[in-house]
Amino acid sequence: MLTADPLLNVQDVSVHFGGIVALDGVSFDIPRGQIVGLIGPNGAGKTTLFNCISRLYNVNKGDILFNGKSILKSPVYKMSSLGVGRTFQNLALFANLTVLDNVMIGGHSTCKADYLSNALHLPWIKREEKELRARSMDVLRFMGLEQTALQRIGDLPFGVQKRLEIARALLSKPKLLLMDEPAGGLNHNELSELVATIRRIRDEFGTTVLLVEHHMGLVMEVSEKVVALSFGRKLAEGSPKTIQEHPDVIEAYLGTGKK
Ligand code: ATP
Repeated sequence: MLTADPLLNVQDVSVHFGGIVALDGVSFDIPRGQIVGLIGPNGAGKTTLFNCISRLYNVNKGDILFNGKSILKSPVYKMSSLGVGRTFQNLALFANLTVLDNVMIGGHSTCKADYLSNALHLPWIKREEKELRARSMDVLRFMGLEQTALQRIGDLPFGVQKRLEIARALLSKPKLLLMDEPAGGLNHNELSELVATIRRIRDEFGTTVLLVEHHMGLVMEVSEKVVALSFGRKLAEGSPKTIQEHPDVIEAYLGTGKK
């Protein structure tokens, strides 16, 4: 299904790890401003695709266009400034630092300050630091975390840490946010909050969202479009209803053996 002027365009992407084919000619578009779910049984290739889009992995074949341009030559550290943010399945946080410091660390890559300017305490460094602190507090407020700003991460519940991961990814105001299993480990109330948060991210930041998720209820509720993978291949894409009723998707999940 081709979209006019998509934000992301995955074109015939294949990835091999030795003899393992993790992705096999996968193509789909992510329309601007949409929330898109990427589903598939264990080992389907979802994380591999995420890692290709965030440039942690190279592709063996195919192309990935972001805003109409190939990103395959962009180094991983440039992805945030290009407009691609991500959260990780296993939280990538510093347990001994405060909530605020964890967010600010994410922003230091966009600061101009170098070792020498820092050592000399130049006035513009202080301004830059102040501005980063204010932006960090803004995203913490957006995620309802401002009260925890000075608390150590290790002392906070898992659900709060998951929200912090999202806050940190939002600091760079990504055009595309890749969320890797945001629902993992959350309780019922936190799941409903997550649905509202994903919608607010799209509506208030204008961010397009691609989420990998095993929690089918959440994916089907929040996504406008769903792409289903199995054994590295795209099985189907379409509305949540289309995907839920698609015989190949049902078979991949239930293993009915019918074809
Ligand atoms: P899950 O839902 O369990 O996280 P997934 O859909 O994200 O699964 P991937 O993690 O992308 O699936 O894995 C796809 C295939 O590629 C699997 O067979 C996996 O073992 C393999 N694979 C993924 N990363 C690597 C790697 N770095 N080295 C070797 N094989 C890998």
